[in-house]
Amino acid sequence: MSSALLNSKDIKAQASRLGFVACGLAKAEPVADDVAALFHHWLELDYCGEMDYMRRNVDMRLHPDLLVPGVRTIVSLAMNFMPGNRQPAISLYAQGQDYHDVMRGRMRQLMEDMKLEGRCFVDTAPVLERYWAWKSGIGIITEEGGFVSIPGYGPTVFLGELFLLTEADHYDSPIASPPQGRMGGGVCPALTPEGLDARRCISYQTIEHRGPLPEEIRLKRTFYGCDRCLRATPQFAEAQPTDEPAFQPSEALLKMTPEDWQGLTEEQYRELFRGSAVKRAKYDGLKRNIDRWLEE
Ligand code: SF4
Repeated sequence: MSSALLNSKDIKAQASRLGFVACGLAKAEPVADDVAALFHHWLELDYCGEMDYMRRNVDMRLHPDLLVPGVRTIVSLAMNFMPGNRQPAISLYAQGQDYHDVMRGRMRQLMEDMKLEGRCFVDTAPVLERYWAWKSGIGIITEEGGFVSIPGYGPTVFLGELFLLTEADHYDSPIASPPQGRMGGGVCPALTPEGLDARRCISYQTIEHRGPLPEEIRLKRTFYGCDRCLRATPQFAEAQPTDEPAFQPSEALLKMTPEDWQGLTEEQYRELFRGSAVKRAKYDGLKRNIDRWLEE
């Protein structure tokens, strides 16, 4: 491990050149006790539904050094995903290429450019990413939905983290207190004072859940994901279209009509969603969603 300190201004400048709209640094310490207690309580309530991975590696999620031994600094990064045009049946975040691939590629580039030692994560490891984004001062946590909202860009951002073995010359502080009280403000019954009850959430049901959709789930506008609470945050007004080509929908996706969705074949599905996060729902899951959406 290098003994030189990581220059926080340099990494922020390079992150900006690579297209990240925010970059903040936090000391790699155990997650604060009150946040850890809320997370344990959320698991006890079974609010994670079938997302069993949330129950695994809980210690690792709360102690970054168990995930990456020797980690000293956590760098939180955000990319704006707000598409210019959009296919209305699909959640805003999933209109373009799979963010895991886009973000990971850009974060690896950042580590290479800065000759950094450590690991990068995009939503695929036990990391409390919203907590680290808040702690590293890149955004606020919204009351509706608990999103991270970046000043000037709003909550339409993807998050990623670098777990680095180097200490930094400067660490950032949160720019606001976490919100207190009821999450969601009545926008959706899935948002409770104790956090998101994934089992009642359209986004969870249409993406993560396997098997038939529960009867009570109503797909309002989208059959993949749900943007209702995202749009309900006052900070959504700050969202602005990204100039990142990878997050724009293809012409073919934009042209799809309800009739086209009804007749979607597996071959068309593969072609339309090559390299897209929508593949997480698999063809059968997407057809199940489309059928319910067309019924309503
Ligand atoms: S994504 Fe939709 S269903 Fe899920 S909590 Fe938000 S508004 Fe409710």
